[in-house]
Parts: sequence; structure tokens; C-alpha cells
Amino acid sequence: MKVLVINTGSSSLKYQLMDMDNEILLAKGLCERIGFYDSVHKYYGKNGYYNKTVKNIKSHLEAIEDMLKYLVNEDYGVIADIGEIEAIGHRVVHGGEKFTESVVIDSNVLQAIRNCIDLAPLHNPANIIGIEACMHEVPDTPMVAVFDTAFHQTIPMYAYVYAIPYELYENYGVRKYGFHGTSHRYVSKRVAKLIGKPVEEINLVSCHLGNGASICAIKKGKSIETSMGFTPLSGLAMGTRSGSIDPALISYIMECKNMSAEETTNYLNKQSGVLGLSGISSDFRDLLKASKEGNKRAELAIEVFAYRVKKYIAEYIGVMNGVDAIIFTAGIGENNALVRQLITKDMDYLGLILNQEKNKLATGIEMKVSTDDSAVEIFVIPTNEELEIARECKKILQ
Ligand code: ADP
Repeated sequence: MKVLVINTGSSSLKYQLMDMDNEILLAKGLCERIGFYDSVHKYYGKNGYYNKTVKNIKSHLEAIEDMLKYLVNEDYGVIADIGEIEAIGHRVVHGGEKFTESVVIDSNVLQAIRNCIDLAPLHNPANIIGIEACMHEVPDTPMVAVFDTAFHQTIPMYAYVYAIPYELYENYGVRKYGFHGTSHRYVSKRVAKLIGKPVEEINLVSCHLGNGASICAIKKGKSIETSMGFTPLSGLAMGTRSGSIDPALISYIMECKNMSAEETTNYLNKQSGVLGLSGISSDFRDLLKASKEGNKRAELAIEVFAYRVKKYIAEYIGVMNGVDAIIFTAGIGENNALVRQLITKDMDYLGLILNQEKNKLATGIEMKVSTDDSAVEIFVIPTNEELEIARECKKILQ
């Protein structure tokens, strides 16, 4: 079964075509700067074929047309006919409380995704455009929506409501939703395989540490708590996002900086986090370099990031009354040995002992990085949200 996975952003389209009979990636690509004159389409086809084109891609519909042309191209395409694509899986950021699992997309589902736009004004509109463009190009191909929020719908109510007037939850849907669910689910299943126990029998803390970062407490295969909330701004300090702050700071910043509510939200989303603290970059590679060269604010930013992760891990171990393993994933979690070392330092009381040598070796590869006598195992697991989406499609449609 060949499954196409689509992930649309406001000006981007990422795609992967996978053969799900053996979980092999056939082709993938990325269109960026859609709507600009210098849009870029990068395509990776068969036998290591790579092509980068700069041209004007006016809309997501054009990007999808372009993608389909590449996939069926005689020389570097991977399928003879578009009809070979048996299913399309769409990453949808917000499913609200309506979607607790992935669903086949029909007009009702599309409307329900539209109804969640208020909850994810930056993401859901782009996801809807992607779905509509595919409906236009390949109307007969079944499509599945896989939601970032769905995995977290098992979080108990006492953990997802905020201690503010209940009417805000009832009338405006104000509650914790959580994000990165597809990634947390994928890595938790991988670790269960590596430990050799069903995911339903183990407790895990999954640390998705990328530009956006979140932590999830996974009890017997189910998310019971996560660090992101009503929006992806809360929890950890991130590349450019503040993470959780004192809520009274918002009006204080508005006054000090003479900003509107929207400008302040933007400030906390785009100019804060490790970028705001370091004044250098949101990218951990730049921060590590600067810190090694003696830049104190870069060093501080890394310390703040690691400290918050450590606090969440400790909290979630407490909430679950112990865990079997901790998982590090996404750009920083998979590649940054120093950050993993800072996070796990002095956590032997909670059962975590990092194997320093193995930790240094684990860069972008699946690996156990705890010592043999560590009561809690520590794993580095490269995430693969696209594969998880394709698996969901296969599961639902078969
Ligand atoms: P997102 O998908 O949220 O945009 P990623 O998961 O790609 O983010 O993570 C981006 C982060 O990962 C950046 O801070 C980047 O510096 C870090 N990163 C990626 N590769 C490496 C590496 N080899 N060493 C250290 N940090 C890395």
C-alpha cells in the first residue's frame, strides 16, 4: 500500500511517499516560500536523485500539482500513475476535543477541523488548504487526518483544566490540549519494542526537544500529562518561545514595552526562549559554539533550557510513581549530547544514570544511553512523525 503523507504550513508543503507494505520511503520533498516569487521545491527521488528548483509557486494547490508531476516523472519519479497512491495522510495540528484519534476525512470532518481554527489560527487553515488541494487533484483517493492533539485526549480532566473560572472551559474550550502527539506516540512505541514489553505495561517520559519542545508523561501507552497547553507556547523554554511564565507578566510587558495584546503574544512566541535569552540565535548549534567561545548569555540560555526539562522529568516521574524509561527525541534531543548530559545530571536519586561515553556517540541514531545499573533506562530515538501518520492511514483504511 503506497501512502502519501502531507504536512502543510502557512507557506510550506512537506511530503513523503511511502510503501507501507515494507515501510520504505520512496520519495520525499519540500516546497518553501509558497506564494513568493522565489519559492523553492526540493525533491528527493529514487536512486539518490535530488533536485532543487527555484520558481514562483503561487499556492498550495500549485505546490501539490508540482509534487504529483515529480512523483510520476518518467526519469526520477517513483510511481507510474497517480492512481498508485492508495491513501493520503494529513498532519492536522488541532483536533480540539472532537478528535481522540485519526479519522477518514469527509465533509463533516473537514468542517470539524474548520471549527478548530480559533484554537490553532496559524496551523489549521494551512492544513485545510492542503486537504482541499488534494481533494481537488486526487478526489478519489481516501484521506486520513492525523491530529497532533489526539494522543493527549487521554489526559485526565484534573490535569487539563486550568484553575480559572470553569465557564471559560465550557464556553470557549479553554483547557490544555497538548501537541507533538504523533511524535510522542511514535517514540513511545519504539522504546517499548526496544525494552521488549508492550507499551501498555510501561511508563515513559518522552522529551521532544526541537525548535518547538514538549514533554509527555506516558502511562501504560497513554498520554496523561504534557507540558504544552491551550497553545504550543507553554511549558519548556524553546527556540523562540518563552514557555510558561507568570501570567501577570503579560500585562506588565504590554505596559513596559507599549505593546498590544497581539504584539505581546508575538513577542513571547517569536522573540523569546533561548533566542531572547542569548540575544544570538534560536539554533542550539549556534548557542553551543558561542558558549564554547565564552559567551555567558548563550551558556545561560542552554542552562535554562536544560533546567526546565529536568524539572518536568522529575515532576512526571512523580506523577506516574516511577518510570521505566526516559526518551530524548527531535533535533536537540537526538543530536545534542551536552544538553542531554545537563538534563540528566544529578538525577540518580530518581534512578537516572547517563552513560557518558554512549551519550557522546548518540547523534541522530537510536541508542540506549543509560548505564547498565541505571534503574530508569534512557534512550535517544529519532522521531518519525511521517511514518507514524502513514501507519495510522494503513491501520484505519485496512
Ligand atoms: P522543529 O522540527 O521543531 O523545527 P527540529 O526537531 O528540527 O525542530 O530541531 C531543531 C533544533 O535541533 C535546533 O535548535 C538545532 O540546533 C538542533 N539540532 C539539529 N541538529 C543538531 C546537531 N547535530 N547538534 C546539535 N543540535 C542540533
